[in-house]
Amino acid sequence: MSTHSEKAAAFIKDEARTNWHDGALWHVREKRDAAASLLPEWELLRNTASHIKDNVLANLDDYLIQFEAEAKKNGVVVHWAKDGKEHNQIVGQILQRSNAKKVVKSKSMLTEECKLNDFLEENDIEIIDTDLGERIIQMRKEEPSHVVLPAIHIKKEEVGELFHKELGTEEGNSDPTYLTKAARTHLRQRFFEADAAITGVNFGIAETGGVVVCTNEGNADMGCHSAAVQIHSMGIEKLLPKAEHLGVFTRLLARSATGQPTTIYTSHFQKPQKGKEMHIVIVDNGRSEQLGKEDFRNSLKCIRCGACMNTCPIYRRSGGHSYHATIPGPIGAILSPNRDLKKYSDLPFASTLCGSCSDVCPVKIDIHEQLYKWRQEIYKHHELPKSKSIPLRITGKIFENPSIFNSVGKIARSSLKHLPRFMVYNNLNGWGKQRELPEVPEYSFKEWYKKQKDE
Ligand code: SF4
Repeated sequence: MSTHSEKAAAFIKDEARTNWHDGALWHVREKRDAAASLLPEWELLRNTASHIKDNVLANLDDYLIQFEAEAKKNGVVVHWAKDGKEHNQIVGQILQRSNAKKVVKSKSMLTEECKLNDFLEENDIEIIDTDLGERIIQMRKEEPSHVVLPAIHIKKEEVGELFHKELGTEEGNSDPTYLTKAARTHLRQRFFEADAAITGVNFGIAETGGVVVCTNEGNADMGCHSAAVQIHSMGIEKLLPKAEHLGVFTRLLARSATGQPTTIYTSHFQKPQKGKEMHIVIVDNGRSEQLGKEDFRNSLKCIRCGACMNTCPIYRRSGGHSYHATIPGPIGAILSPNRDLKKYSDLPFASTLCGSCSDVCPVKIDIHEQLYKWRQEIYKHHELPKSKSIPLRITGKIFENPSIFNSVGKIARSSLKHLPRFMVYNNLNGWGKQRELPEVPEYSFKEWYKKQKDE
């Protein structure tokens, strides 16, 4: 398993792609800023959303029980899954019982997290992702690189080549309208043939037992309305207490994600259609463990808008796949170490801790503070790589002792001017790979200050 920095190094080798990725995501961030600035009540909405989620997380057990009872009253079959494996088995059994061989799926990061596609394919069930971005990466046998824009790392020319190979479109044609039409025709056929539809869940309403799915392509509706069986996979943290709370979140979600006032489709599913089945699979998969960690509980407020990714200077320049986890970017770097501290101990360091992620988060998660806390946890659990732990230990010792600090500063100031370049810029200085050190000053700040005071 390569680390974030190794994967990032591979991504930035293609300088044109890196610049374009950076620019494309910054453009989305600017759209978010423009949309937020049009609402004078924006900060009030963020505060309200954060408080509603505080209440949900503090009373999650009660809301889950209420949600289950209401859903059952509506004729929905409710299942509980403690982890990804159990989730996949439950979905597999539902499909097997209804003899479903062809399934359409509307974007769900939770099913990605559970690796549902691999599981179903291994069991001879065809599963087609129907969100255009998801379908593109499914054809390329890749994972999403962003929670809202899963194929943001792929250029339109590459999509043109892919569709030519997979869907028989004209060679060399990468016109987005032409490609979108081709994808639509391909997907429409899959919707008609599907025996079952699976969707993610943006919000579950405890008061009504219904689920809400937000999409821009209408694929959740297409799938659920045409198939005989509909399955909604929902993380335990997705609940809202009442339907009246929903407006706060739908106003924040689309604006934070893409700068739109609202998603094109906000679909409510409450009961099965006549003669059809509706299932909701409620999944834990590490969430209750995160809930029990006071320092990291707030991360469960996340509504997966992707705003923290679009603004993060590291994410924009290193690409989503460099995070080697289903949820990339700043929020992924908080959620992943909860699942496997050893495997993901590099991720909380993939941040400048500039705080931009916390500033844009619509539910006011203290993202950069949690990243900082994870660093301390990683240090405590001895999961820091030697390349970080040794320099940090040495730097700590220097900072602890003023006379050593002054002497080291003096030696560095005089030697840096004379050392040959290869001794300063080499493999030991990862920082210097893309940067030049500033000109070395004559004096330390302390010396300069003393001089000014004396004059
Ligand atoms: S952490 Fe906040 S900004 Fe990031 S995806 Fe979640 S809700 Fe959006």
